[in-house]
Amino acid sequence: MSTPVSTATSSTPGERARALFAVLKNKELIPEGYIEQITQLMEHDWSPENGARVVAKAWVDPQFRALLLKDATAACAQFGYTGPQGEYVVALEDTPDLKNVIVCSLCSCTNWPVLGLPPEWYKGFEFRARLVREGRTVLRELGTELPSDVVVKVWDTSAESRYLVLPVRPEGSENMSEEALQKLVTKDVLIGVALPRVG
Ligand code: FE
Repeated sequence: MSTPVSTATSSTPGERARALFAVLKNKELIPEGYIEQITQLMEHDWSPENGARVVAKAWVDPQFRALLLKDATAACAQFGYTGPQGEYVVALEDTPDLKNVIVCSLCSCTNWPVLGLPPEWYKGFEFRARLVREGRTVLRELGTELPSDVVVKVWDTSAESRYLVLPVRPEGSENMSEEALQKLVTKDVLIGVALPRVG
């Protein structure tokens, strides 16, 4: 007769991660330097500042904008933004009449190299379910009130389409340098739940 296995989990995610790490290390399944490498990527290299560079360049350089809209993977690769979860990048072009928003209704996919890791709320069941059903309301609750004639389009990101929102260059930014424009683009702007604002 087999021993019953308890499925109760009273441990925290951190405790479970450490336990898993200990088992894998014990079995020599973690390559030398892997943890250091992935930590460096997650904490330093994968950042919405990368996406901000991509967006700002698209705002000032029509040729780059055309490439970004045609083949965003190639456009991001020009900056060296490639790697895990950086494949199959698709840029969603906002217009004055259209606001694109990204969600992963199944789990929490984002484009790690250009958006960084997903924020906590992005992984929540409520955001994932409600954004699809009532996007405009969820945006309002997050502080983004859109005029009623702006269409809200919600895109379900996945392993095969890693979206990035290309927002409309905001009013008042006409004389700003590319570097200054980058500072207007946050992770929320790249996900599409916020608009870039000057001042
Ligand atoms: Fe996902």
